[in-house]
Amino acid sequence: MTDQNPELTCQQFVEFIRDHMEGSLPADVSASFKAHIALCPPCVDYLDALHKTRDIAKLACTHPDDELPPDLPEGLVRAVLASRRKSS
Ligand SMILES: [Zn+2]
Repeated sequence: MTDQNPELTCQQFVEFIRDHMEGSLPADVSASFKAHIALCPPCVDYLDALHKTRDIAKLACTHPDDELPPDLPEGLVRAVLASRRKSS
């Protein structure tokens, strides 16, 4: 472990995203998480896309017949669906 280094790698960032979105990220991790956002535009894009996907997933829940927009990366959809399965 690298407790003395507060910086997250992109992989750690991705692992913490779900906790972040659920609001269950510990304060110290949350600080590192936000620091990573400031340093890593690709992760900002990823997080933004995940938020959009989650919103769409909510809509899909309300309107199960609606199709997902075709420009949504399939990997993101799978990730959201997988996390929903785990958390329910
Ligand atoms: Zn990153």
